[in-house]
Amino acid sequence: MVDCCSAPGLMPFEQALETMLAAIPPITDVENINLADCLGRVLAADVTSPINVPPHNNSAMDGYAFAQSSLAANKVLQLAGRSMAGQPFQGMCQEGQCIRIMTGAKMPKGCDTVEMQENCQVTGENVNFEAPRKLGDNVRYAGEDIKQGQVVFTKGKRLSAIDVGVLASLSVNVLKVFRKLTVALIATGDELTAIGQPLGDGDIFESNSYALSGMLKNINVNVINFGVIADDENAIRAAFLEADQQADAVISSGGVSVGDADYTKLVLEQIGEIAFWKIAMKPGKPFAFGKLPNSVFFGLPGNPVSAMVTADLLAMPALMKLQNCTAAPALTLKAKTLTDLRKSPGRMDFQRGVLSHENGELTVKSTGSQGSGILTSIASANCYIVLPAEQGRVEAGKIVSVRLFERFFG
Ligand code: AMP
Ligand code: MG
Repeated sequence: MVDCCSAPGLMPFEQALETMLAAIPPITDVENINLADCLGRVLAADVTSPINVPPHNNSAMDGYAFAQSSLAANKVLQLAGRSMAGQPFQGMCQEGQCIRIMTGAKMPKGCDTVEMQENCQVTGENVNFEAPRKLGDNVRYAGEDIKQGQVVFTKGKRLSAIDVGVLASLSVNVLKVFRKLTVALIATGDELTAIGQPLGDGDIFESNSYALSGMLKNINVNVINFGVIADDENAIRAAFLEADQQADAVISSGGVSVGDADYTKLVLEQIGEIAFWKIAMKPGKPFAFGKLPNSVFFGLPGNPVSAMVTADLLAMPALMKLQNCTAAPALTLKAKTLTDLRKSPGRMDFQRGVLSHENGELTVKSTGSQGSGILTSIASANCYIVLPAEQGRVEAGKIVSVRLFERFFG
């Protein structure tokens, strides 16, 4: 692994992400599971359709089906039967005849076109068509959505609620997916108090494990929460080793800088490998990526905003890779900033903003104070305002890059 710790300066964000992704070995274990359990799982093989969808030509409207050639010759056709969804007309529609048909019902033999009922006058057995129709109007063709044998979803696809619906429409009941990842969470810090406990002098409530656990649940991994570990080298080593036994990935927060009580780097060097250390991004400069004997390791900074942002932008893409997931990257747009944006050149900024649409243009506002401990700066945001490293202060009215939040935050 590349050891960038000794390199002078900071590693650019993109380089950090690339280096890390290149070092992640995707898991190979697969399992076959029922469709009902597939939400959020990652496909381990392409899925092809066993059938045509729709399975038969059918009507897109409530109305009347007929042969278009009949209507070309005659405005009035004789009603000869009906075709309902699930109860198709069994006979043959002859020249000069039409069939009452409902949306989704199978096209009767002899019919190739449908007119919607609003354009028809019915008198007894006679149906009067107001206007001519083109051949095939209002007909949905067999296989027009999905053809039998067609690849519907490719390996690496994480199945959404919509995807599960599509698979149900094909009656695909068993799918080969990659096994679920297990991720261990470790919060480090002597000052951290579990919620609901009395707060000691100088202490704060531990929140990172809740936010991170939520993010991990949004990508459907098993989470093992190790709770709070004291700023103690032995305790941290023991926790890392235990977590390494149980999980595919270990995520710690806090203790990753170079303060007197920061042991993450030291312990990682003792029992594993460390890949890089300081990234030219804000928030989130101190971020450790490395390997433990059995797992990959992410050392997030302790500040809650830095922890969430580095989890979102670095750890999550890495976990996606580990899980073989080929999700498209977040959408980046250009928007006009309505607020001045404070920045000094040096690091790439991921300021938190609210993107909206005003008077026909995309606009973005900063959520205010961007301190890395100010959780509300991210709670009220829906996007990052991404400012390149060399960028200085930005004045209101300028166009900036905006990256929409992914669904990791839920
Ligand atoms: P550290 O990275 O350990 O220097 O922590 C930086 C800041 O983040 C300190 O103010 C910590 O109290 C705070 N912090 C660290 N871990 C957590 C956590 N799990 N929950 C909330 N705040 C934390
Ligand atoms: Mg600490």
